[in-house]
Amino acid sequence: MDAVLQPGLYIVATPIGNLGDVTLRACEVLRGVSAVACEDTRVTGKLLKHLGIKQRLIRYDDHASDETRDYLLSLAAGGPVALVSDAGTPLISDPGYQLVRAARAAGIGVTSLPGASAVITALTLSGLPSDRFLFAGFLPAKAKARGEVLAELAGLRATLVFYETGPRLTDMLAAVDEVLPGREVAVARELTKLFEECRSGSPQELIAHYAAHPPRGEIVVLVGPPGEAVAADFDIDALLRAELATSKPSQAAGTVAKLTGQDRKTLYARALELK
Ligand code: SAM
Repeated sequence: MDAVLQPGLYIVATPIGNLGDVTLRACEVLRGVSAVACEDTRVTGKLLKHLGIKQRLIRYDDHASDETRDYLLSLAAGGPVALVSDAGTPLISDPGYQLVRAARAAGIGVTSLPGASAVITALTLSGLPSDRFLFAGFLPAKAKARGEVLAELAGLRATLVFYETGPRLTDMLAAVDEVLPGREVAVARELTKLFEECRSGSPQELIAHYAAHPPRGEIVVLVGPPGEAVAADFDIDALLRAELATSKPSQAAGTVAKLTGQDRKTLYARALELK
């Protein structure tokens, strides 16, 4: 028999595609709470039906009225209430932040049940450095604002993780190519589902692929960190000169491009000048 749950707000992660990815504890909590706050009652209703759980569903997102939030808080003060989103971990590019903040401020117990999230699934799959990463959610749709956000992130020595949509993917990759030249990129698509794929390459290679094969489904884009030399602000001319002592300009440019993450063509032009 499931344990009786204490009053409070239970943040519950749900699958991001494969329904097998729900945890035992998530099922136990979803069965034991007095209500489930969710983004879309139809989506959560389907999941609960699949799990054989009958629950009272209350629609909630961060634009919900103060009354809805206060109502959920009053329920959570007296009994256990779950918060779920359509898929994955609530609050991660999904509603919940306002509710959690208000619950904590009101002294209501809050606990979070870990589970699926596309950001972590994509990061672990991508082969890009995972020791430091920055999750930046969705980039702005407008080109100027998107370029500004990318420029803000350019100096970070971390893998950058973005959520993206199919129709915007190639424009986004072109912006990455322009603002963060020389980075390795991975596109993770349809994670945990039948047509899961994770494709790595330069932004140009990926643009060529997805222009020919328009991407369907849900997408995470990961951008590798800049080369160590760029991050450490090394002297590019000194690196090129050192390479030119033993290599042709094209080889020197290639080696320094790999090391620094800078654009190979620009480095080649500079190598010709230095030679
Ligand atoms: N809260 C969710 C999480 O923890 O991952 C994210 C919700 S956000 C509204 C939805 C976005 O997450 C999608 O547009 C996509 O970028 C990404 N995403 C969700 N599921 C995915 C999947 N199975 N494969 C790839 N990306 C996914």
